[in-house]
Amino acid sequence: MEERIDLHAHSTWSDGTRDVAELFADARAAGLDVLALTDHDTVAGWAELPGAVAASGVAAVPGIEVSAEHEQLSVHVLALLVDPGPGTELAGEMARACASRDRRARTMVDRLAADHPISWEGVQEQVADPTTVIGRPHIADALVAAGVVPDRSSAFAELLSPSGPYYVRYEAPTPVDAVRLILAAGGVPVIAHPGSVSREGMLPVELLEEMITAGLAGIEVGHREHEPDERRRLAELARSHDLLVTGGSDYHGTGKPNRLGENLTQPDVLAAITHRATSTTEVIRP
Ligand code: AMP
Ligand code: FE
Ligand code: FE
Ligand code: ZN
Repeated sequence: MEERIDLHAHSTWSDGTRDVAELFADARAAGLDVLALTDHDTVAGWAELPGAVAASGVAAVPGIEVSAEHEQLSVHVLALLVDPGPGTELAGEMARACASRDRRARTMVDRLAADHPISWEGVQEQVADPTTVIGRPHIADALVAAGVVPDRSSAFAELLSPSGPYYVRYEAPTPVDAVRLILAAGGVPVIAHPGSVSREGMLPVELLEEMITAGLAGIEVGHREHEPDERRRLAELARSHDLLVTGGSDYHGTGKPNRLGENLTQPDVLAAITHRATSTTEVIRP
């Protein structure tokens, strides 16, 4: 049978609700053969991959989901099989982004605390490890725990929305710089869910073309937030630029409705990704 490969998932090291071992146990239960760990802006979970692979029998593709920003649009780029650093420029940029995210989260919590019963301590209680970088999903969890909203999605709909009064931005590289830094670190850059970066729909096609010129290797066409029309458009764009087409669930445990394996990547695409990577990071097989 053809290998079932899911190239996008989060653990508790970012905003997933399952730790790395649980994530790979879930992957096994979902019938996956290969899963990429792509936590937001961190490689903290990579150390746990060999153990999780051995216990689950599911192979791991070490990765990062790099947060970039273009004119206030949040753009995510998957960095697959990248050098984890700390010596790379990408690692330096991730460290800067994490410091900026920490300041930003504290400011958002201060603003929210003026009107709602939440505190920085309450937010910290939502993460498994104190070094976890706090994002809006953890603030959402604290709002749920305090009974302010029923679930994460409700928190995002209003209180945490970029158009709301509590939102604070954080520093992130431009999408083109993200692509360059990932390539320089020997990784394979794949734009994540380009059809869902903003409420208005797909990110500007000129931006995507600049990213392609900078060396973007692939497009995550298979993603729950892409309608069939969007998938056709993105697949055609990938074909015309000779880019790889990937698919992933963007699983966050119970933090999002996404189910492991709901979008998959073809085995020949994973082979091409492995071939493209120039770092020493490899797929970890059981
Ligand atoms: P941040 O990077 O801290 O601004 O938070 C953005 C992250 O929140 C995204 O990467 C998603 O994983 C998550 N997210 C965005 N919208 C929602 C939602 N409606 N429900 C749950 N999680 C969400
Ligand atoms: Fe997330
Ligand atoms: Fe994302
Ligand atoms: Zn993601």
